[in-house]
Amino acid sequence: MIHNSSIYSYLLLILSSILNIYPSVCYNETSTSINKDSTVRKWNIITWDFLVSMLLGIIISTVVNHYQFELIKATIQSSTEAILNMYSKHNEKQNVRKIMKDLKNFIPLKSFKTYHIDSDTSMETIDILIDEAKQTQRFSFITHDNKVSEKKFFIIEFIQPSASVIVIIDRFQESNVLCNKTDNLLLVIFNESNCVQTWGDIFHGLFGFQIYDIFLYERIDRKTLLNMEDNFKEWYNKNFSHNENCGQLLDFIDIDGPLCSCSHRPYKFPEDKWSLSMAIMYTFHENFELSHDYIQQCLAITKLSHVIENEWTREQIHCFNEHLK
Ligand SMILES: [Zn+2]
Repeated sequence: MIHNSSIYSYLLLILSSILNIYPSVCYNETSTSINKDSTVRKWNIITWDFLVSMLLGIIISTVVNHYQFELIKATIQSSTEAILNMYSKHNEKQNVRKIMKDLKNFIPLKSFKTYHIDSDTSMETIDILIDEAKQTQRFSFITHDNKVSEKKFFIIEFIQPSASVIVIIDRFQESNVLCNKTDNLLLVIFNESNCVQTWGDIFHGLFGFQIYDIFLYERIDRKTLLNMEDNFKEWYNKNFSHNENCGQLLDFIDIDGPLCSCSHRPYKFPEDKWSLSMAIMYTFHENFELSHDYIQQCLAITKLSHVIENEWTREQIHCFNEHLK
């Protein structure tokens, strides 16, 4: 562009010179009596015109170059600002994305007292627990059945208003009086008027505990078992719906799908099952690395069931999480 304006200036210069020379040449052709002074004066005029034209060309060229430079400067400046804005927005998005190390540790809703039933447990302790169970309508229930170590036990939480009671029941190796007494406790817990919350369908897993009559003769009403995994999925999808710009946003229904881009919806297929740790992580922003801590798993089912049963909204969950920070 600077090159073009220079050419423009020189063209102007040449044109100006021609205009000044032309009358002088014509005059020379028609008259032979011209004197020397006149010729010198004309050459002075031509030289003067040449200098003025050149100066004019330089001024025009300088002005044009100046404005072109300002234009280029403004363009570069606006482009830089646009790039910086894009970078800043990208950084903001990265900051919004939550990461594992920001998670706090799992906190149960209530305090709890623990009992362990094994071959050394007294009958009186089981009687106390039977009384506690009779005053409780809702329980959380975890089974552990390790085929390799053959270690089998239950963990049952008696969900009570002030504090919970956690009972760990080892599987007895043989039927005895204490085992029968424990069977009575299980009969109270699995009474059809109660609700025993589980994570996943554990019904068939109970066959490994047939040392207890209640499981041997299938004296459990299946409706007593409440699979909180299904209930959680329904509650979560209802309250933590897709973002407005999500490709999985559909009229009338809210399901997981492969077009979903929401960071708060970790599962992308309708048949996907929520793990307990993922449910705790996405609901309460708590770390739940508890593969071997079955007591914490029981307490986690209770914590999730509390928000589901009380139909907490996304705003209530947000307030609850913020309050605990
Ligand atoms: Zn989505």
